[in-house]
Amino acid sequence: MKYIGAHVSAAGGVENAPVNAHQIGAKAFALFIKNQKQWYAKELTQQNIDGFKENCEKYGYTSDKILPHDSYLINLGNPDPEKLKMSRNSFLHEIRRCEQLGLTMLNFHPGSHLKIISENECLDLIAESLNITFDKTKGVMAVIENTAGQGSNLGYKFEHLAQIIDKVEDKSRIGVCLDTCHTYTAGYDIKSVEGYKKTFEDFDSIVGFNYLKGIHLNDSKKPLASRVDRHDSIGKGFLGEEVFQRLMNDQRFDDMPIILETPDDSLWAEEIRWLYSQVY
Ligand SMILES: [Zn+2]
Ligand SMILES: [Zn+2]
Repeated sequence: MKYIGAHVSAAGGVENAPVNAHQIGAKAFALFIKNQKQWYAKELTQQNIDGFKENCEKYGYTSDKILPHDSYLINLGNPDPEKLKMSRNSFLHEIRRCEQLGLTMLNFHPGSHLKIISENECLDLIAESLNITFDKTKGVMAVIENTAGQGSNLGYKFEHLAQIIDKVEDKSRIGVCLDTCHTYTAGYDIKSVEGYKKTFEDFDSIVGFNYLKGIHLNDSKKPLASRVDRHDSIGKGFLGEEVFQRLMNDQRFDDMPIILETPDDSLWAEEIRWLYSQVY
C-alpha cells in the first residue's frame, strides 16, 4: 500500500501539521520541526508535544509515515571546524526534538564540501557527524536524502549514500530518502522505462532497498543531468506523468512515506487523488 502525503506547514505550532495533512487527504506527511532558516528554536512546550501526538493519533499517522526535514543551514560535512560544530549541535537539537515528539526519523541533506575539501573527506565528516550524534541519542534514524548535486552538494550519486552508510557504526539508525526530481537532475533517467529499471537496479546493488525509508515525489523544472534543484508540480515538468504512474504501481515503494514537495500547495489534494487513481 502507498502512503502519499506532502510537506505540510507547521505554522502556529507542530501540532498543526497533522491537521493540515489530514485536510488534503494525506496518508503520510513531512514537516519542519523548527524554523528551517534558523539555527536554534525555542523549546517545544508540553502543549506542542501533547497536541502533536494527539493529532497524529486522531488522524492515524504513525511515526514510520512521518518524515520530518532538518534545517537548511545544517551542513554535517562543513570543512570549517567552527561551522561544523554549529551544524552538529543544531542537528543534535533536532534529533532531540524528534525524540520529544515521538518521531523516529529525521530527513537531512548530506552536506557540501564548499570546494575546500575533497568529496571523500566531506563524506567522512558527514559519517563522523552521524556517529557523534548517535552516541548522544537513541531511537531516531537519520534519513539521508539524495541531491541534485547543485553547487558543491554531495549525495548526487548513489555511491555517496553508500559511502556514508558504510562508515556509520550503527546501521540500524541510518536510512535513505530518494527525491525523484533530484534523482533525475543528478543524471539518473527515471523518465524512460529502461532508465527507471536500471536506476533502481543500481540503487539496490549500490545502496540496497532495505535502507529506503521514504520518497520525495516531485516533478522537475530542469532537464536530466542539469544538476539543478527546482521542483515542479506532478506531470507538469520534465518528468511528466508516466514515471509517477509507474512508481505508484511499484511495490518497492510500499509502506513508506511518499512526500510531495511540489511548489503549488493548492494542488496537493488533487495531486494526491490523482496519484491514488493511477494504482491498478
Ligand atoms: Zn526533497
Ligand atoms: Zn529539492
